[in-house]
Amino acid sequence: MTELSEFRADTRAWLEANCPAGARGPGQIPWGSSTIPLENDARLWLERMAERGWTVPTWPREYGGAELTRDQYTVLIDELKRLDARTPLTGRGVNYIGPTILEFGTDEQKARWLPGISRGEGGWAMGYSEPGAGSDLASLSTRAELQGDHYVLNGRKTWTSDAMDCDYIFVLARTDPDRPKHQGISLILVNMNQPGVQVRPIRLLSGASPFNETTFENATARADDVIGEVNAGWTVGKRLLQFERSTHAGINISGSQGGRSAESHLAEKLKQYVPSRDGRLKDPALRERLVRYEQNGHAQRLTQKRVIEELEARAPGYASSAVKLTGALHAQEGDELLLAAMGSQGIVWDAPGLERRESEALRTWLRQKSLTIAGGTKEVQLNIIAKRVLGLPD
Ligand SMILES: Cc1cc2nc3c(=O)[nH]c(=O)nc-3n(C[C@H](O)[C@H](O)[C@H](O)COP(=O)(O)OP(=O)(O)OC[C@H]3O[C@@H](n4cnc5c(N)ncnc54)[C@H](O)[C@@H]3O)c2cc1C
Repeated sequence: MTELSEFRADTRAWLEANCPAGARGPGQIPWGSSTIPLENDARLWLERMAERGWTVPTWPREYGGAELTRDQYTVLIDELKRLDARTPLTGRGVNYIGPTILEFGTDEQKARWLPGISRGEGGWAMGYSEPGAGSDLASLSTRAELQGDHYVLNGRKTWTSDAMDCDYIFVLARTDPDRPKHQGISLILVNMNQPGVQVRPIRLLSGASPFNETTFENATARADDVIGEVNAGWTVGKRLLQFERSTHAGINISGSQGGRSAESHLAEKLKQYVPSRDGRLKDPALRERLVRYEQNGHAQRLTQKRVIEELEARAPGYASSAVKLTGALHAQEGDELLLAAMGSQGIVWDAPGLERRESEALRTWLRQKSLTIAGGTKEVQLNIIAKRVLGLPD
């Protein structure tokens, strides 16, 4: 037996023995928030995986990881998917700020933040966008002023997902307004549990309200909670965006990513709404779209796997934009296909006696429109691919 096949056998045996039934298939995935109660099996699964270092499998052991190699990591993901075991822990902690601290943080910052992040102690919000700074993020105007051993923050962030349930927020703030706009920014960790941080909900088209406006009025942060050099936050913040895009693309090797792909269930769902014969959809146009969709899904997964195998860091650089974009377009095509098959049944929203799941397809279709906006819009990704991946002239 090679070392890797031995690792696979051990991993399979351990997962089978330790993954509770309630952590398999769709269901709750913890992301660290201290205000969201965890179901028993989700908590048990998180504790067992954290104990083994498998919430952040490739991180160093001293920070809560298991120091898995890339090959071992790929095996772990395969085995999680085989069991349909859910990711034990997700969110901006393990996926965005954790790997950023690993790359840019001091030893003291790593020791202070990473073990808690690996155990899901605290939910993280992302304080980047502002009313006047979205794609042109460097125009941000939130200020952080150094006063003794702490910073004082004032400003307004918008579209802060999940902020109402978060304990911490990483903020891009202007620490030197006199420098050119890309050079006076820092990335700062802020405790949200203080009077100077206010969160107000923004309601969405899909009916949910995970969005907020987050304001800072003389909020404070420790001076030693700047990640990377002071005023070098543009570089650090952009790397964090690559971790975000890679997470969307399924190629960030920080968190363990389990669960089956959504598309593996789509063909079954379609057959509930349109006639089929011998297991094939009768409508040739829809069938062709489904086949193309499945092929694209397969290509997406192979690309993810290849990119992970070729990685020399925890996440790729600019290539993450390409895989994120194709993943988002693919997910949106799945939503379109389902609604096309559902016909008039797909446009129900609310009616007396209607169960929420009956309008789920429409709500998902609306919600996933955001996949080509969040983490950088489709046009911004295309610009990055053109300039940084393909090297095309401006
Ligand atoms: C679901 C979701 C979750 C989000 N969560 C967070 C969060 O937690 N924290 C956070 O900070 N932000 C978050 N955002 C905000 C997100 O990062 C911004 O919406 C995004 O960066 C676009 O910025 P904007 O909305 O200001 O649009 P704008 O930048 O105003 O863009 C408007 C349009 O102009 C186009 N455009 C802009 N510049 C260019 C260009 N140079 N070339 C070509 N086209 C261009 C865009 O593609 C877009 O179509 C979230 C957004 C969504 C949808």
